[in-house]
Amino acid sequence: MAKRELPKIDIPKEIKNADVLFVSHSGGKDSQALLAAMIRLGFKDKIVLIHSDLGYLMEWEPMEEWIKKNSFGLKLHIIHPPETFFDVVRRTEFMPSANYPICTDNLKLKPIEAFIHDYMERHKLKVGVNVTGIRGVESDRRAKKPVFGISDFYKVRDYSHQMIYDWNPIKHYLVEDVLAEIEAVGQKIHKVYSFGYSRLSCTFCVNSQVGEHTMSVRMKPETARAMAEVERDVNKTIRTQTIKGKKVRSYTDERYDIHPTAKNKDISNISHETIAWDKIDDGTYEIDMGEHIIKVIPENGKFTLAIFFFKDRKKYEIMATEILDTLEQALKFGEKTGLRILEKNIGHLITQEHAKIEMKRKQREKLEKEAREMGITVEELEALKKKNKKKKSCSDEDEDGECDV
Ligand code: SF4
Repeated sequence: MAKRELPKIDIPKEIKNADVLFVSHSGGKDSQALLAAMIRLGFKDKIVLIHSDLGYLMEWEPMEEWIKKNSFGLKLHIIHPPETFFDVVRRTEFMPSANYPICTDNLKLKPIEAFIHDYMERHKLKVGVNVTGIRGVESDRRAKKPVFGISDFYKVRDYSHQMIYDWNPIKHYLVEDVLAEIEAVGQKIHKVYSFGYSRLSCTFCVNSQVGEHTMSVRMKPETARAMAEVERDVNKTIRTQTIKGKKVRSYTDERYDIHPTAKNKDISNISHETIAWDKIDDGTYEIDMGEHIIKVIPENGKFTLAIFFFKDRKKYEIMATEILDTLEQALKFGEKTGLRILEKNIGHLITQEHAKIEMKRKQREKLEKEAREMGITVEELEALKKKNKKKKSCSDEDEDGECDV
């Protein structure tokens, strides 16, 4: 397959005069692509690499080692914000949300801003650029952010002698561009993505999908407990649900059964090459992907692969040919080696398959809505559509309108 061409990045003229580029790295794929792009553009000598550590409960694991591994030899500056997510919620009595991410403001932006001012002061630098890996397709809020401009950091009176810009150079990147940029420098993405997460963020991020939170309850039960406690303390919840058209709070301890002593899973011994299979008592292996479970059932020296989707409580048996091919390959090597081969290859295939199923689910929802509006059943509507389609495609009609095809 032809390699994807790396996207063009326009370099604002102000960058040329900058003394320093502060590149933020969360450990996630967008940060990796951002740093790789900055290196590609020849900025290595000007980069100061920074990471804001969100602490044991919210980080998947200490990111220092992972980021250093992918830092092109740059020194990594780790910032420890004075508060945790839970401190911020208790102090403000406000639960952050996608539209009001006060957690990002308090745990990332403000500590990074303080670091930047301090660093520039100590090194007597005049022009700095705060470079981040946000992408427009991620949210409306991000889409509205300018690619380049004078930073709010600049407006701080005590540091008005420092000129600071914000630059979001990969704002136009699609996920394929991100992956291509990472691949081009021979890096891998963090193992957390292969658990089914779309982003590497806080383990209980306010922007996460329901399925990702479900998965996090299993992977990070201590964090789920902390979330449940803070929700009760401030009487606000990280998720809401709609009942009879009204949005109501949905408490984490009501949504999930959180075991009082369960510990957060240590993922440090899981290789970045693999995804983790749990061996179940009945001899099967499974991966809980939050919205679905992938099950491998060994029987008489053979494997069967099943995908169970929970969102609409249906079991879809659609199998991607590629997954089946991988499974067939794996079979040749016996159970243990086969599973390992499967682990290595299955992650992105499942993501693709999941996207296809999401599309089908949306089509089904549309059909159900249409049927409801017409006052008929989905089956009747399908039959009607089939009939209409047949009529349309029939080019040879009898005088009485009957199709001869
Ligand atoms: S990753 Fe999510 S929860 Fe964490 S600070 Fe950012 S928005 Fe808030």
